[in-house]
Parts: sequence; C-alpha cells; structure tokens
Amino acid sequence: MPDVDWTRLKAHELRALAASNAVVILPIASIEQHGPHLPVMTDTRLGHEIALRAARKSVAGGRPTVVAPVVWSGLSEHHMPYGGTLTLSHATFRAVIADLIDALTRHGFRDILISNSHGGNQIAMQQICDELAPKSPATLVATTYVSEAGESLSRHCEDQPGVMHAGEAETSMMMVCEPDLVDTSELDTLTQAMDGARFLKAGTASYRWRPFQHVTANGVVGNPTRASARKGEAMLEAGAEALAKLILDPETWAPVDDIRGPGTKGIPFQ
Ligand SMILES: [Zn+2]
Repeated sequence: MPDVDWTRLKAHELRALAASNAVVILPIASIEQHGPHLPVMTDTRLGHEIALRAARKSVAGGRPTVVAPVVWSGLSEHHMPYGGTLTLSHATFRAVIADLIDALTRHGFRDILISNSHGGNQIAMQQICDELAPKSPATLVATTYVSEAGESLSRHCEDQPGVMHAGEAETSMMMVCEPDLVDTSELDTLTQAMDGARFLKAGTASYRWRPFQHVTANGVVGNPTRASARKGEAMLEAGAEALAKLILDPETWAPVDDIRGPGTKGIPFQ
C-alpha cells in the first residue's frame, strides 16, 4: 500500500500521483475547545484520521488518492468564549482554501474532495465551492464526514442522536486516536443535553448566529459518559467507508451534463 499522506511523500511521487489523476482529499477542521476532557486538536485529529483511512480504502478500490495536510485553521468564533480556540475570519478562511485549491490544480490534480470535520465550517465550505467551482479546472466536491456517513456512524451512539460536540462520539473516536489525551476522570459529570432549537435558530425556519455559551455550561454537547474505544473504532471506520464510497462513485466526478437544446425562439444558447 503506497503512503497516502501528502507530507510524507517526495515531490516526484506527488507529480506521479497528479499524472495518474489521483483524488486529493483536502481536510478542513478546527482548533477549538472540546470540553475539559478532550484536546483542542480533536476535529483536526479526527478529520485527518478519517481522511487517511478513506484514502487507503480508495486506493484499495482502484483509485489513486492522497491526503493533503489538514487545514486546522477553521471558523470557530462560536467557541471563543471557552478559551483555547483559534479562529479565522471568513475572508481569510476563504483565501486559504482558494489558494490551496489553486496550488493543487496548478500541479495538475483535477478531482478534489474538501473533507470537513467541523460544523462551523460547513456553510462557508459550500459558499467557497459555489464561488470557485465555475472557474476551477478541477471538480470540487465538499463533504462533512458526519453527514456523509449519516446513520452508519450515528447508530453506534447509545446516548445521543448524532456526533454533536465532545460527547459520546468524538470522545469514543479520540479514545482510539489519542488515548493518552482523553481525561476520563470526570466524564460522568460532563453531559450537556442540547436543545437544538435554541442554538442557531429563530422562529420556525430562520437562522440566527449564536455563540456556544448559549447552549452549554462547560463546552460539551452530548454525553461522553458512555464513550468507548470500541465504539470509536466503529465510528472512524464508518466515516472512512462513507468517504471512500463517495470517492469511488464515478458519478461524484462525472462531467456536468448539458441537456440544453439548440436554443429557444430560434436563438442558440451561448
Ligand atoms: Zn469536534
């Protein structure tokens, strides 16, 4: 199995990957507070782990794939009140991603998967794709592993409905990736149930930005009490399987259809 980590490869090996039409996974994440029991690297570490596992599965499935370094600097303004959090402005975040995609395409890579592991990046990630894709020589696809894996990942949670923040899921996965950095001494005191309707919503279907302090006393959302490495391993594999399936599906990278007719009212389309 060839190495799939961009940073461990030599330049000529990366030129060869571009020539073989490899998919590049560009992970985007955050450095932000994850309660008193998980390190601030959590989204960055998990996003990288899942991307590496996904890339190995894609290679095994017949598609060359390489994982670019994680963009750890994300949009985490809503976690600033708890300390330990680093955040970019939207303009800087957009510029960083645009420049990295430009560099990748200049090297000849044409299929790029932006793989997000932090909820706060989601809206901006889609906006950036909307802006860049029409002019980019590459096909840009963006996903968040939690959403892409859906039920196949969340079904491993016993005490919360999905991944949430520093709860059962992320704590379980970090028990696999960085067991020495998970403080299990007070897990049973940390649970915070979040009323989702109170966070980023107003009215029946309206959006309102709010900081995380609106919904959690300690920075945790979810229940880390029942976390286990066994569950974490299953969740990491579910996330990686979902990304690999996305990469290996030819429709993901297929050219855009053009089903326009010759024109209307006798005037051809441009
Ligand atoms: Zn997280």
